[in-house]
Amino acid sequence: MMERNYKRRFPISDWVLITLYVLIYPLAVSLTLIFFFYNFSNKISQLIFLNLIIFIFLLISLYFYQSVFRKLDLYAKKVDFYHFTPSLVDLVIHLIKQVYYVLFLGLLLTFFLEFLISVSKNDLTVYLGFSISISLLLEGILIVIRMRSKIALINTAQEPVKENIIANLNLDYPESMKISEYRFADIQVPSLFLSAGVTTFGLNNYICLVSRYFNWKLNDEELIAVLLHEVGHVKNNHIRKTYMIIGTEVILRSIRIFSVLLLLLSISGNLELFKIDPFSFLYLVLILSVFLASAFLTFFLRYRTYLAEISADEYSANEIGALELAKVLRKLPKLIPSPLVYDQSSFLGFRVNLLRDSAKK
Ligand SMILES: [Zn+2]
Repeated sequence: MMERNYKRRFPISDWVLITLYVLIYPLAVSLTLIFFFYNFSNKISQLIFLNLIIFIFLLISLYFYQSVFRKLDLYAKKVDFYHFTPSLVDLVIHLIKQVYYVLFLGLLLTFFLEFLISVSKNDLTVYLGFSISISLLLEGILIVIRMRSKIALINTAQEPVKENIIANLNLDYPESMKISEYRFADIQVPSLFLSAGVTTFGLNNYICLVSRYFNWKLNDEELIAVLLHEVGHVKNNHIRKTYMIIGTEVILRSIRIFSVLLLLLSISGNLELFKIDPFSFLYLVLILSVFLASAFLTFFLRYRTYLAEISADEYSANEIGALELAKVLRKLPKLIPSPLVYDQSSFLGFRVNLLRDSAKK
């Protein structure tokens, strides 16, 4: 067998995607907002413009949300797993959580508010710029933390999947060739779904990491079933789509922080919000739509993750058979020391039941 020696590597394309979707796209929207605010200092027209932008995002979030909801609902109907579809109660709970978030954020921002008031003399452009900077900074910190652990995982994963398995995979399923490396990794905390994952190493160049336990406990056919699930993620472009949603979240978060700042300004007596005039009305519409938009986007992201797993399963099942994949998924929790369970209420149970259902036809 060929000896591999992996050098320290960076998932370059991951950074390209992050720059494109989490930095450039939110920055472009933010600069448009700032430009407008700066050139139209009338507060009413500023809020109208912001409302317009949020309205567009609200429509997009609603559209995506209801499209994943419809698809997931169809799956749930097949096997009676309704607890994986969103309900109105979930939405209300989410909005209540958001109120707590606002209170907490408000508390933090109070420290900056006095400074901002002394700088801005009540200029909304300064508040918007501040909100955008905080939002981008927060996302930046999160990305660095996430990427650091990802890179550490890639660099410690030195054991390649057997060459003959990869050769067979590439021969039978050409789509798998987009993944240039398959390695066993010490995945400590298994994800909610499986203990394997893909990340990008270049345009159309992916790396696939699989729990090292699968090396010892799965036979070649079972391992190929797991790898094909990952190929399904690659084929459906799931990584790129996730970054686009995160970028949209950054924009919504900026405007949410901005609306919290206006509230604080009003509480500190620097801005009159609670009276009957167009400005207060526009503010009310803004805060309602920005919270609704981010709620729907959060829900979209969560339920889309379920759909992504189901579609990756479908890809794998198409190649090796639904019952075969169901059998492998069914035994995974027993193979790895993890909180992962298989039962009638778990997502794994949902997936296994869906596969069995599709095999019946
Ligand atoms: Zn998956």
